[in-house]
Amino acid sequence: MSDYDVDLFVIGGGSGGVRAGRIAAQHGARVVLAEEYRVGGTCVIRGCVPKKLLVYASRFRAEFEDAAGYGWDVSHPVFDWPTLIANKDKEIARLEAAYTATLQRAGVTIVESRAVVVDPHTVQLADGKRVRARHILIATGAAPSYGDPIPGIEFAISSNEAFHLPQLPRHVLIQGGGYIAVEFAGIFSGLGAQVTLVYRGDNILRGFDDDVRTHLRMEIEKHGIRVLTGCKVAAIERKEARLSARLSSGNHVSTDCVLFAMGRPPNVGGIGLGQAGVEIAKNGGVAVDEYSRSSVASIYAIGDVTNRINLTPVAIREGHAFADTLFGGRPTAVDHANVPTAVFSDPEVGAVGLTEAEARARLARTDVYKSMFRPLKATLSGRDTAVLLKLVVDGSTDRVVGCHVVGEGAAEMVQLAAVAVKMGAAKADFDATMALHPTTAEELVTMRQKTGSYVREAAE
Ligand SMILES: Cc1cc2nc3c(=O)[nH]c(=O)nc-3n(C[C@H](O)[C@H](O)[C@H](O)COP(=O)(O)OP(=O)(O)OC[C@H]3O[C@@H](n4cnc5c(N)ncnc54)[C@H](O)[C@@H]3O)c2cc1C
Repeated sequence: MSDYDVDLFVIGGGSGGVRAGRIAAQHGARVVLAEEYRVGGTCVIRGCVPKKLLVYASRFRAEFEDAAGYGWDVSHPVFDWPTLIANKDKEIARLEAAYTATLQRAGVTIVESRAVVVDPHTVQLADGKRVRARHILIATGAAPSYGDPIPGIEFAISSNEAFHLPQLPRHVLIQGGGYIAVEFAGIFSGLGAQVTLVYRGDNILRGFDDDVRTHLRMEIEKHGIRVLTGCKVAAIERKEARLSARLSSGNHVSTDCVLFAMGRPPNVGGIGLGQAGVEIAKNGGVAVDEYSRSSVASIYAIGDVTNRINLTPVAIREGHAFADTLFGGRPTAVDHANVPTAVFSDPEVGAVGLTEAEARARLARTDVYKSMFRPLKATLSGRDTAVLLKLVVDGSTDRVVGCHVVGEGAAEMVQLAAVAVKMGAAKADFDATMALHPTTAEELVTMRQKTGSYVREAAE
């Protein structure tokens, strides 16, 4: 008789937890998974998927505007927010049911409850019931942050609530400069709201290539999004039916909705990690080794709660690797290098590998190839927009170490370019690849002129 009720207790039914639970069960483990909200987690319920559906909705505006140049008359399109939200909710409910069914088919027992760790082998559910587990997996994700408390913070919403607003606000004030803030700015603006984006740093999208940041800011400002950098929201007040936000610059913004998108700290609090002896890393997430094992041998952690790279495919890969390592007899460490990423703004951003600044700091020699032009699609419509494509190359080896694109289809382009970057393709391989014409992506294999070549200064 085993001392344990289960082989694996998974806390959290999001991207990482669902994958880990399913694969562990398929390897023959007895698995229980606890989810306190809805199976599917952030990505499916209030992240990537509903966001992308809203992004699709918001892009019709530009298509309608462009249509005239192509001979179409769509002069009076009407948008209905409640219809979009109802249809989105239906699709999310379908996905949630599909995730639940997949887990159950694999033999995972799902418990609809909050779960907390009591000791290295015990988990307690909301009703007080305790489960003894040989291994515990922490997959509790991350949650929106409102930053330091300010007067009137109760009037602000996070991305969670943005998916359920009863109506489309006429004006939205968004605080934040990361991808979620920028994406919601594009969504609301595309759907017809006026948008002000407030960010305390000097430019949006910290961590992305500087040319990408400058280019995207210029593009979204052309679309009418007001970007205010170097300041933050200091207070929010209700003024009759509207809100008034006082900024640290002293300016006031009158708005219908204040959305804070200021990062997502890992969900490590209130789940018993301290009492079980689980260490928290400097980045605020659960400290883990390359196999996602925490400082307690029986407890593992994957996904956003470890604050490594907070993206769905990474959480899924970590969950899968964890299950293969522990229950499949195949120790698997996840390779976190060259993870492609996107910002579903309008225009879109896709990026993989090193930024120019990172390359110049790390490599002896860095070559840069850059191209900016009006896309063919915008010629007949007269739309004022430009595409940016950039390759960052190791000048000593000719290896392409970074690929950055801003423009329609950027995410789709970069997913494929990421294969080449991951394989270690050289710039000469890109050059030897025949162009596919007429496309925007062909520029990635036809850029011949370096726009910059830099030698790293020797350290003193
Ligand atoms: C608005 C938004 C847009 C995003 N867009 C993208 C995108 O385009 N591409 C991309 O790759 N990523 C995107 N992300 C990030 C992505 O959603 C996360 O990286 C991913 O969901 C992480 O998976 P996870 O399993 O670690 O955590 P989650 O998916 O957050 O799952 C954690 C689950 O644990 C549950 N939980 C927490 N504590 C407990 C407890 N004590 N007991 C029981 N259950 C608990 C939560 O309810 C949740 O369901 C987006 C996120 C947001 C917020």
